[in-house]
Amino acid sequence: MSYEGAEEELGREEILEIARKIIREGPGPICNHCLGRQFAKVYSGISNERRGEILREILGPGVGAEGEEGGMEGGGGKCWVCNGLFTELNKWVRLALKKLECYECNTFLVGTKVSGMLIENEELLWEIAGALFAEPLKAELNREVGKRIEEETGKRVDFDTPEVVVILNLWEGDVELQVNPVFIYGRYRKYKRGIPQTRWFCRECHGEGCPHCNFTGKMYPESVEELIKASILDLFGARDMILHGCGREDIDARMLGSGRPFVAELKEPRRRRVDLQTVEKRVNEANRAKVEVCGLRYVRRGAVAQLKSANAKKTYRMRVELSKGVPEADLRRAVKELAGAMIEQRTPSRVLHRRADLIRYRRIYNCKLLDWHIRECELEVKSDGGLYVKELISGDGGRTRPNFSDLLGRGIEARVKELDVIDVDLSCELDM
Ligand SMILES: [Zn+2]
Ligand SMILES: [Zn+2]
Repeated sequence: MSYEGAEEELGREEILEIARKIIREGPGPICNHCLGRQFAKVYSGISNERRGEILREILGPGVGAEGEEGGMEGGGGKCWVCNGLFTELNKWVRLALKKLECYECNTFLVGTKVSGMLIENEELLWEIAGALFAEPLKAELNREVGKRIEEETGKRVDFDTPEVVVILNLWEGDVELQVNPVFIYGRYRKYKRGIPQTRWFCRECHGEGCPHCNFTGKMYPESVEELIKASILDLFGARDMILHGCGREDIDARMLGSGRPFVAELKEPRRRRVDLQTVEKRVNEANRAKVEVCGLRYVRRGAVAQLKSANAKKTYRMRVELSKGVPEADLRRAVKELAGAMIEQRTPSRVLHRRADLIRYRRIYNCKLLDWHIRECELEVKSDGGLYVKELISGDGGRTRPNFSDLLGRGIEARVKELDVIDVDLSCELDM
């Protein structure tokens, strides 16, 4: 071992003095791991164990060596700092491997829940030696166990986005796994009206089950989320699935055309590299005429936030009922005025009970008259996300302006009878 470099920060004699102090003043024998770890930041490139061993060799017989007070070999007892933890590394590795068997993963990270006793021991040691050049016990334990798991399994330690976190619980003497979710991006189409995007808990009982909801705890028997979940949960051996949508359509609206972008988050998956064509086929065969998914691909966790914050433009197609007959020319004029308009919209009265009352501004990019009859017409509207399109047509008692009803004039009331979303234009690249 060379002392060059180290001396710049801490002189040789100083190091040896601290090491001697640790060995002599500690309440019991100390292992090479725990001794070496106190100088982890002085010399790099070797293990704490080797570092401790070298220090002991330099200090020579008479200090902490065999037969000496403070020496591991002669002391007979366990290291007073780690309580013999570093002699049991293989036990922890075995426990971890056993748990890991059940979960498919390529990357992992080891973390430790240190027991109170070990924290106290480490604090006492740092009172003796100072903590300036030391590495915490759990950092060494994490690294050493991690290295061994890598060697045994070929899996790789990943500090940023591990698929599984192996937690050494020193309190319980057991290993726990925190299995991180798998994220899948895709688009869904909803062909049937009356299905909400996600589970909608009963207003009366909030999910517990009551007469109002026929003891289902839900307002609607099925949702896009539940339909997809039911068809793929077992493929991943996952505990649960959450659907993060890029906005959501009304329950009575269909989602057609390009479909709505979503990210499915599979919780605690046992398998994480399932062929996505199989997944797609499974969902689509199980939910014919209700829900369909396409374009599935694996993404990172960050995709969820990106999806939620994306200002995706939406294109709607709707059948509008008119309270009086309207000549084609009037319809065309109203449609022309809406195209390109900036809409000032107060929170619609129908959602006021659950949303704050505020004013939002949304742009209409395009408005087309597709078809018309005496008291009915069909429109296509492209707008910023977040526009309440039913209110754009009805006017919501003047809360949305301009609106289709007012533009038709003559006291005509226009109302959306059927609504379909036909495109969600996601203008950002997702985190893959
Ligand atoms: Zn120790
Ligand atoms: Zn209920």
